[in-house]
Amino acid sequence: MDIQTITHKNIQTDLGTVEISISNFSLAFHATKILKDISVHFYKNKVNTLIGPSGSGKSTLLRCMNRINNTTEGITTKGAILFNSKDIFKDNNDLSYLRKDIGMVFQRPCVFPKSILENVVFGIQHLKKLSKTDKLKIAEKHLKAVSLWNEVSDRLNEPASSLSIGQQQRLCIARAIAIEPKVILMDEPTSSLDPISSKTIENLIQSLKKQYTIILVTHNISQAQRISDQVTFICEGNIIETGSAEKLFNHPEKIQTKTYLSDNFCNC
Ligand code: ADP
Ligand code: MG
Repeated sequence: MDIQTITHKNIQTDLGTVEISISNFSLAFHATKILKDISVHFYKNKVNTLIGPSGSGKSTLLRCMNRINNTTEGITTKGAILFNSKDIFKDNNDLSYLRKDIGMVFQRPCVFPKSILENVVFGIQHLKKLSKTDKLKIAEKHLKAVSLWNEVSDRLNEPASSLSIGQQQRLCIARAIAIEPKVILMDEPTSSLDPISSKTIENLIQSLKKQYTIILVTHNISQAQRISDQVTFICEGNIIETGSAEKLFNHPEKIQTKTYLSDNFCNC
């Protein structure tokens, strides 16, 4: 299928339904081209992973999908990012609506200087009025979903900063899913964690995909191999190869992909 002809969602492919479609998308900071005419699909209820060397544009692309770099000085974009049948750049400026559907988890856990409970409900309480009982119910549901409930149920009013870094990252994921998004963007969510906490987050990503579409950035090729359904290899702002994880890791088509996977080095 010619990717440039695609203008709406509900397209069925071998990887299922397309959730976000990036079409001939380019981004520059002032005169520097960072993303160069990128076209790629991300699939519903899958772990869609972006891999590539440092500085290749993975985070920049991820951040475009909920327009978090909207106010960054000097950015210009061309092309489209289609979500819910609309170009997210054309759909006026109601970013709160976009970010309700597309949540984000960062490299370092970013907890607010508030209690564990208040961190979980931080986003959702801006969307609707919540009683104390509502807040407790929401916190319990989402802390259970990230396997944190048993560790914190007796200390919900303690500061979130009292948790370990691995627990804080699970709390950030609970906060992201509490607003019930459709898509969760994750930018190297395990890179600041110890191996056991990383494994917990990897397992969590696998369970979250039943309900959410995950778009994950990682420079950890083994991690990408363990948990991805679809993989896109980006180098110097170009997509070198994209496809099912099975195909990309076992039968890569491009010589650059083979070199990157075997030597963790990019000669693009
Ligand atoms: P990756 O996540 O793959 O390591 P990034 O998307 O962070 O790469 O960066 C891609 C390129 O864009 C890099 O050359 C980086 O220096 C540049 N870049 C990222 N953010 C900014 C910014 N706010 N202003 C100018 N250049 C930026
Ligand atoms: Mg990055």
